[in-house]
Amino acid sequence: MLRLNRRVAALKPSATLAMEARAGELKQSGVDIISLAAGEPDFDTPERIKEAARKAMAAGATKYTPAAGIRELKQAICAKLKRDNGLDYKPTEVMAAAGGKQAIYNVVASLFDEGDEVIIPTPAWVSFAEIVRLSGAEVKLLPTRESDGFQLRAEELKRALTPKSRGIILNSPCNPTGAVTSAEQLSELAKVMVEANLSVIFDGVYEHIIYVDRPPHLFAIEPRLKETGIVVNSLSKTYAMTGWRVGFAAGPAEVIGAASRLQGQNSGNPNSIAQAAAVEALNGPQDEVRTMAEEFRARNRLVVERIRSLTGFKLVNVPEGAFYAFPNVSELLGSKWPRGVLSDGNQVAEFLLEEAKVAVVGGNDFGAPEHVRMSYATSRENLEEAFKRIANAVRKLKS
Ligand code: GLU
Repeated sequence: MLRLNRRVAALKPSATLAMEARAGELKQSGVDIISLAAGEPDFDTPERIKEAARKAMAAGATKYTPAAGIRELKQAICAKLKRDNGLDYKPTEVMAAAGGKQAIYNVVASLFDEGDEVIIPTPAWVSFAEIVRLSGAEVKLLPTRESDGFQLRAEELKRALTPKSRGIILNSPCNPTGAVTSAEQLSELAKVMVEANLSVIFDGVYEHIIYVDRPPHLFAIEPRLKETGIVVNSLSKTYAMTGWRVGFAAGPAEVIGAASRLQGQNSGNPNSIAQAAAVEALNGPQDEVRTMAEEFRARNRLVVERIRSLTGFKLVNVPEGAFYAFPNVSELLGSKWPRGVLSDGNQVAEFLLEEAKVAVVGGNDFGAPEHVRMSYATSRENLEEAFKRIANAVRKLKS
């Protein structure tokens, strides 16, 4: 009898990638789909970054590199952490990886073990919990409330602690809610985390896509957290480089060393040409980052307005960062469509794909089954058209 590894057998597919793949297949088969599914900027990678890749390839940068990345990239990551986040790291304390996801996986697998509990405030990105489960540690989901701006409160964190609590994964701006944790809240949370000796994995992948003042980094607010905590980030969203697969982690040399050994055994270095492009992305002029963020701000306003005029969709909180809106669709639940009754966010996503030809991701795997996630990393024309289609489809629902 064929038998799979227990943890892999229990692994869910990534809901975000699965929906994006379905939308892609439908498009290829000739269906006119608008995708608000994957969180992938529609902008092209800036030319200066592509040019750095061309040059690197022409110069023969086509061989293995050290598993955790070339020295220039590690230095560029250290310089970025200083410039953007006010954090001091040495090259021995950083590693490059093939995407933020790989960085998180290798760090989580290096830090946590069976018998440990890792706290994940929800709604949360679909991959955090699955990555923690793969490590053998237990996931402790800690729901936040929509009426409270999806903010994790220090008292709630305190109440969720057990003798097994070892870590927490924080993500601000948050995918999928767009919530930004303020400096005051970060410092309240920091007190509890220091006291509980938690290793904090802080995912700042959307840090430049933010519509409020950017708060200082958690580890700048509370430097003691830096002693056991890890910064994870990626170039995917900031520089429109999703396909290049470059992410990174920074933390204590012991953890980064372990994660680098793990990477050395399971995949080796991130793509050598993408690393050269990443050096240029991080070290070169940062104007495109601001230009892209401004466009996301305009789309944010458009999307909030359109969602608020849709029947059955409630958007309590205006997203303050990232490029997602996470409306509550509970008013639609119980409605009938040709395939049955809408029972949760995933069903609403199915309905929108079939009836409106618009791909969104159901909230179930984000830990919020009464919601759907809409990515506005697509053009304003696409967004206008998508919301027209959604409005028409919803009109056809029967109660
Ligand atoms: N992080 C993006 C998203 O949430 C890209 C897909 C993925 O890796 O989940 O859509």
